[in-house]
Amino acid sequence: MMNKVIIDAKDILGDVGLEQSYRFEQEFNPIVSETTKYAFSKPVLFDIKLENTGRGVRVTGKVSSEMILECSRCLGEFSFPVEWDADEIFAAEKMPDEETYVMDDTFVDLGPPAEEAFVLAVPMKPLCDDACAGICPVCGELVDEKHEVHDEEKVDARMEVLRKLLKGEEDEDAGKAEG
Ligand SMILES: [Zn+2]
Ligand SMILES: [Zn+2]
Repeated sequence: MMNKVIIDAKDILGDVGLEQSYRFEQEFNPIVSETTKYAFSKPVLFDIKLENTGRGVRVTGKVSSEMILECSRCLGEFSFPVEWDADEIFAAEKMPDEETYVMDDTFVDLGPPAEEAFVLAVPMKPLCDDACAGICPVCGELVDEKHEVHDEEKVDARMEVLRKLLKGEEDEDAGKAEG
């Protein structure tokens, strides 16, 4: 479901040059695409100005929030600040061959351009931390302060313990069979 952020611009439509500022917060539904789903960890803050340019309404300002992303290395979730440096024209009428947003009567909807900007702000490979070491290929655990480096010897030692355990089970089974 697309997020709608509807603002009625009727107060500035009377004259070219009229403007009005807005500052408000709005909860956003997750942005869902075919491959991903971006949820928000806080409301979206709009700090914007609407201005009548004669051809339509120009929206400028800052729109910010935090999205929940999955780290491409450790697969952990983390909050990622996103900001849209808004500068968008909402035309009064649809112009042919022009990629502008169009007003619906006296209303503008900042939802679609905000979603577009937020999705573009997501890195190709999100990282919870530039230094994230990801998941250990040997033990499958997270490589953090608690994780011990496996040198050859340690890996061998683990394997030895495993071998003994397996052997012990075999012996037990053998014992049961005999008894
Ligand atoms: Zn990570
Ligand atoms: Zn490990």
